[in-house]
Amino acid sequence: MPEILGEYVDRLVTVEMRNRAMPVGITVPLYEAARAEGGGRPLTLRAAEGLVANVKKGDYVFIITGAGTPPTLVAGESDGPPGAAALGRMLYYGIGALPVFVVEEHHAGPVTASAEAAGIPIRDLSVLQERHFAGAVLTAPTEEAKVASWAAGLFNKMQPKAVITTERLGPNEKGIIHGATGLSGWKPMVDLSPVIDEATKRGVFSVGVGDAGNELGFGRIHSAVKEINPWGKKCQCPCGAGMATVVKTDVLLPAFISNWGCYGIEAMLAFLLKKPQFQHTPAMAKSIIQACLEAGGLEAMNCTKLFYVDGAEGETSMAVVQMLGDMVRISLQEGDTGPAH
Ligand SMILES: [Zn+2]
Repeated sequence: MPEILGEYVDRLVTVEMRNRAMPVGITVPLYEAARAEGGGRPLTLRAAEGLVANVKKGDYVFIITGAGTPPTLVAGESDGPPGAAALGRMLYYGIGALPVFVVEEHHAGPVTASAEAAGIPIRDLSVLQERHFAGAVLTAPTEEAKVASWAAGLFNKMQPKAVITTERLGPNEKGIIHGATGLSGWKPMVDLSPVIDEATKRGVFSVGVGDAGNELGFGRIHSAVKEINPWGKKCQCPCGAGMATVVKTDVLLPAFISNWGCYGIEAMLAFLLKKPQFQHTPAMAKSIIQACLEAGGLEAMNCTKLFYVDGAEGETSMAVVQMLGDMVRISLQEGDTGPAH
């Protein structure tokens, strides 16, 4: 049953609907490349299995997210924080883990608002350490040179048992971070990949979710991204090396919208833990996305507070959450053909 459910969850979160000027037709090819590279099993299932195997009650889980910079996306966008929050909610209520959101300073508002809307109380880190409750939002140094030692310090202090990254851009082979269409040079922008590097060095399980090939984790299929994304081989910036990141996570999940990838992993966790009651509902999906938008995490097509995520209507995200909930509910039912079959 886990393999069957995982198959269809993967299919649902990889249904693409993208404006024709954007990189279209890339979701399934990226997904298929990642699935083959990972050994062939459903990717939401592999991500959820890894989290269940590594994370216990009271453990810290780092969740990295946040994309977008001024002047268009001043505090980030509506893809990233809502998925991070929904997955953090399942880890918090389903396992009793303590979600710690690791973000850039200018993304903290929408991430905090999304987490609170998902039912994760956000408190100072000292509260998590003393009371073993709540989640925290930690902001990275704004100077690039300080990020690596800051990341190492976090691992020393907190010993996280897993790191999840969603919709968080990673550098290419020249160390340059690009957008989905190969643009670069935004400010403020620090590279948070040292957090992943630290996890890799210490053998801490990591999951990467993204939707274009430039997000942390896609280093697993670096050469495939170069072939699949129109700006994969050659970017629109002077570096000329393309937008594909070189940074790998243990499991990579390409989705149409990164939030949907997180929703898919959340669903598989609900199934494996047999705790469907902690999956977020369509109504909560709406609250979370709206909280993100209100806090300045804007929809990334027109850069407004309108109820959209990556060009798709907010209701479409709610519908995906509805379907995932029903898929898990039915999968957990006792075997029964009903009176007519
Ligand atoms: Zn470039």
